Amino acid sequence: MAINLNQVDEKKLHKAKEYIASLRNPNCAEDDVFFQAMEEVLLSIAPLYLSDHKYSENSIVQRLIKPDRIIKFKVEWLDRNNKIQVNTGYRVQFNNALGAYKGGLRFHPSVNEGVLKFLGFEQILKNALTGLPLGGGKGGSDFDPKGKTDFEVMSFCSAFMRELHKYIGPRMDVPAGDIGVGAREIGYLYGEYKKITSQYEGVLTGKPFFFGGSLMRPQATGYGVIYLTEKMLELEGKDSLEGKICTVSGSGNVALHAIEKLYHIGAIPVTCSDSKGAIYDPRGVDLDLLKELKLEKRASLEEYSKFHKEAQYIPVSKYPKGGHAVWHIECYAAFPCATQNELTEVDAKALIKNGCISVSEGANMPSTPEAISAIQGAGLCFAPAKAANAGGVAVSGFEMSQNAQMIRWTFDKVEEELKNTMVHICTDIAQTAHDYGVPGNYVDGANISGFKRVADAMIAEGI
Ligand code: NDP
Repeated sequence: MAINLNQVDEKKLHKAKEYIASLRNPNCAEDDVFFQAMEEVLLSIAPLYLSDHKYSENSIVQRLIKPDRIIKFKVEWLDRNNKIQVNTGYRVQFNNALGAYKGGLRFHPSVNEGVLKFLGFEQILKNALTGLPLGGGKGGSDFDPKGKTDFEVMSFCSAFMRELHKYIGPRMDVPAGDIGVGAREIGYLYGEYKKITSQYEGVLTGKPFFFGGSLMRPQATGYGVIYLTEKMLELEGKDSLEGKICTVSGSGNVALHAIEKLYHIGAIPVTCSDSKGAIYDPRGVDLDLLKELKLEKRASLEEYSKFHKEAQYIPVSKYPKGGHAVWHIECYAAFPCATQNELTEVDAKALIKNGCISVSEGANMPSTPEAISAIQGAGLCFAPAKAANAGGVAVSGFEMSQNAQMIRWTFDKVEEELKNTMVHICTDIAQTAHDYGVPGNYVDGANISGFKRVADAMIAEGI
């Protein structure tokens, strides 16, 4: 039953908004990002929730916003000097109504329970949008792989898995990578899991290809963002990205592959960034150099300008007040691919002023609520993360299928399936937004479509 979201009783909507606001925990700053993610979804679905009583009769909101469980553990590992170091590990198993818990592991000093609850919550609806039988979860640690030797990373990963293995399994919970967790970390984690359990099974995705990984998993998230954006531009009657200047933030897995796919389709990506600064290269970012600096040397982006004198390096200290330099450069389309809340209202206004027509989120929740509101208010196309970056988890789902069947798909097959999935997600959320009276609102479309799938499964499965 589709309802017009604009025709819901104002009084009831006001009460619902008060209830949503009451969910913020003022005594826990850690939970702010979780509240931000939850608030966006609940505001999108409130009119549907108020109109279709089966959701309130089954207390779906109260059940959906609480993780099934949060596992928190101590990780003791040996550093290069044989000194014991201690970090905290987590796994948030949020919701498995649609399938085994699925979501990445993040190793970064900023990791805490609030960050992982936000990421796990987002993951529930994102995984639902792929149409695959996947639940939502997320995990990680405050361990920082930056500056560590391979031995130290291995030592940490082994210790982390010694605890985590008790709670995961190919039909129970299947982690993958995220910030700070790439093929190296997944390899060490998988190796330890295998030693402990003697099981050679698809318990992690993002594995290197030669021991069970899927072709295209490294590229999947970045490529997927571009496929979805191209479809969104087509549906909204805008020019394609071909020949257009694009701005990208980040220089990790998602950003590198978004830049690569932009080149494949004839666009010109002119920026990238890391936690210390940004590069603006007006002729187009030198992708080979970027890969060498980031994947091989794990160096700072400042190095880039030593090779390209015409490129400008902008350190964080020179960023516009309250903003990020990348978004102040003229572009047709923008792709935030680094981290949460990296695109602020100040940045959104600069994008609008400079004639940008589209923003697609490669990172998880990179735009603040004020930025989204400014972007949508100015009539730009906006693809939210849970749809735009779902390509990574989709190919992780394909990796699980290949592992279960003991087969390997070709690169072309994975790419075709990925492209179909992203196009399907885009048309699905555009259609949902249309059906519910908010055409062109891909945020509401994604939240409603994902929510309905998960909520209907929860109702069907009972308590
Ligand atoms: P990587 O670790 O490969 O890269 C992260 C990038 O973001 C690096 O360039 C890093 O710079 C930068 N970065 C991290 N923190 C900050 C910060 N506080 N300020 C500015 N820049 C920062 O991670 P991924 O590319 O895998 O992930 C990027 C985003 O995409 C995350 O939001 C992640 O959750 C999301 N995502 C990733 C998926 C995947 O398949 N990998 C799937 C779906 C979403 P530096 O090197 O200096 O730290």
